[in-house]
Amino acid sequence: MTWTLARRTERMNPSAIREILKLAERPGVLSLAGGLPSPDGFPVEALREASARVLRDTPREALQYAASEGYGPLREWVAARLANDGVVVEPGQVLVTTGSQQGLDLVGKLLIDAGSAVAVETPTYLGALQAFAPCEPAFAALASDDEGPKPEALAGAAGARFAYLLPNFQNPTGRVISEARREALVAAAQAAALPLVEDNPYGELWFDAPPPAPLAARWPQGTIYLGSFSKILAPGLRLGYVVAPPALYPKLLQVKQAADLHTPGFNQRIVHEVVRDGLLDRHVPTVRARHAAQRDAMAAALRAHLPAGAEWQPPRGGMFFWLRLPPGLDATALLPRAIAAGVAYVPGAPFHAGEADPRTLRLSFVTLTPAQLHTAIATLGRVVHEALAE
Ligand code: PMP
Repeated sequence: MTWTLARRTERMNPSAIREILKLAERPGVLSLAGGLPSPDGFPVEALREASARVLRDTPREALQYAASEGYGPLREWVAARLANDGVVVEPGQVLVTTGSQQGLDLVGKLLIDAGSAVAVETPTYLGALQAFAPCEPAFAALASDDEGPKPEALAGAAGARFAYLLPNFQNPTGRVISEARREALVAAAQAAALPLVEDNPYGELWFDAPPPAPLAARWPQGTIYLGSFSKILAPGLRLGYVVAPPALYPKLLQVKQAADLHTPGFNQRIVHEVVRDGLLDRHVPTVRARHAAQRDAMAAALRAHLPAGAEWQPPRGGMFFWLRLPPGLDATALLPRAIAAGVAYVPGAPFHAGEADPRTLRLSFVTLTPAQLHTAIATLGRVVHEALAE
């Protein structure tokens, strides 16, 4: 039997990260590739008790089909929590999604036609490129510097369906868009009537000081905002949310309905149980402290083991270092040797909609212990030294 595949599948490439993760699963390989939060940090006991309470008190409601919008009390909690960051929204604007990854898929289906321009950062979150690609957009890569995408670049993207921006501890670079740059970007977007899609799964994972207020706090009518419980509770819950301006919400809801009717009500009730008890106020600081220690270990190991010419900035939050290898090296070409030596990472290339800098790669510091991080970076340093000596 010959199956004729839809044209959109031509845009679907196997995720570079997943392919590498498969190789990295071999025994003896220390993986800095996946952004997998350390499972030691999952609040298992609180979730166990909450799920028992849900099954005791509202078992039939929790196990029944439910509203596509999401569980009402959880939507109210999300709206109240966002108000702390200056994002003023009604609970009616909150759509609970099956991870924020689904939020990206829904936004793509809502806003992108084949050939529509979509502006993205350089580099940007690989999973967003994958979520949008089946809608066949024409990606426009926004020029950027250390403070974030350049406002002139955003002005030049006028006419795009939206600009997809990651202001806090970006995946993959760890970069934070500065306060001044946020103001300038919003002004440029408003002047160009260019809608914004703001993805913020890492905003709470700061180490020293919280990041500046979200873009959605500055331009609520022009911004779709995505949040997630994956990094502050556990990714296996698959819980995220999209906050949309009221005019967009009804269509967004139809897209959600068609995708999966609703996000699992059982999971939503469990999460609402733990967050309304204030678990995040106790739990998130422990996640920050754990990640900060891991960040420090990786920074020390990079200083000790990487040769001159390698470049990086210790991130001030989030989960990733963005490393630029010394001139002449190519991170994609080096990967098989690194894995053979016992360390895996993700090359920078797949995070780019346009041309990539072949020297770049992403290192996750949240999965391994500080001692393992030292070993992994020492191995990477050896591989880089050897390649330079050739
Ligand atoms: N956006 C970004 C920037 C991410 O890094 C991730 C997870 N790696 C997601 C969205 C998706 O997260 P989830 O579906 O687990 O909420």
